[in-house]
Amino acid sequence: MKPAPFEYRAPDTVDGALALLAEHGEEAKVLAGGQSLIPVLNFRLARPAVLVDLNRISSLAGIEALAGGGLRIGAMTRQRAAERSDLVAARAPLLSEALPHVAHVQIRNRGTVGGSLAHADPAAELPALALALEARFRLRRAGAERWVDARDFYTGLFATALAPDELLDTIDVPPLPPGAGCAFEEVARRHGDYALMGVAAVVVLDGGGVCRIARIACVSAGPGPLRAPSAEAVLQGQRIDSALVHAAADALTRDIEPTSDVHASVEYRTQLARVLTRRAVQRAADRAAGTRSA
Ligand code: FAD
Repeated sequence: MKPAPFEYRAPDTVDGALALLAEHGEEAKVLAGGQSLIPVLNFRLARPAVLVDLNRISSLAGIEALAGGGLRIGAMTRQRAAERSDLVAARAPLLSEALPHVAHVQIRNRGTVGGSLAHADPAAELPALALALEARFRLRRAGAERWVDARDFYTGLFATALAPDELLDTIDVPPLPPGAGCAFEEVARRHGDYALMGVAAVVVLDGGGVCRIARIACVSAGPGPLRAPSAEAVLQGQRIDSALVHAAADALTRDIEPTSDVHASVEYRTQLARVLTRRAVQRAADRAAGTRSA
């Protein structure tokens, strides 16, 4: 099937795009890499009257170092550019580790960081990574902007805090605290397929090896990306050993709401979540210990 007819607009400035969104509101859709939107249009699951192509707006792409150690990523930065960036590897190694799991190289060459975050697919890696990294998003509309924490951005199944006339234009990733280690684990039917389950972990150890901060975020575990507060609480304030990692992984099963589908049952996804949490937390803790002993 082909998309329903639409008017195609390709502004070359952010202000031009925002003016179009202000004019057309819910009738408009922005086109980033098109890797999710084009199939949606072809299946006629969306029928926007106006398509606002962001690909000519060069100012929306790029990766910069933030003073103090964080990263600023333009929404139109291709996923593959982020994956291959030395700056991302140095400042947000969790992203470098996880991005190769996002679809296939050909899709990452076109797909954008902002497009994946805005699309809010519960099986997508980047939204969960944004939660684990406590990223912040700058949303712009004509004449105004606001910053939204990743944890407030996701509001349900394919649902976000973005208003119809708003654009996600920038993602800020704060620096990891000293003594942090990160790890990402997922299982997919084939490499590059959407994850049956994925777990991102950030563990911060103090000078004595006690877990000061634990952040765990899951992919394909509910209607949107989610953090796992029960599992995090088990780890925080404790010295991490194998028994504690098992206890955290068991606690995580209270935080998630996986569903059954043609690919996997709830029981299988829950067991995957347990196993992947153990692996991710243990590797993150080992890496954190490595930074402490280095
Ligand atoms: P588009 O498809 O252009 O847009 C997606 C949605 O976001 C649209 O509603 C659009 O209006 C909106 N949008 C885009 N940019 C903005 C913005 N800046 N501000 C506001 N709204 C915006 N993804 C994964 O995470 N993991 C996978 O394993 C995976 N596997 C895939 C396998 C296949 C075969 C395919 C085709 C895709 C797969 N994807 C996967 C999706 C891929 O990562 C997409 O690139 C991503 O979901 C959307 O990014 P995009 O830039 O292509 O956005």
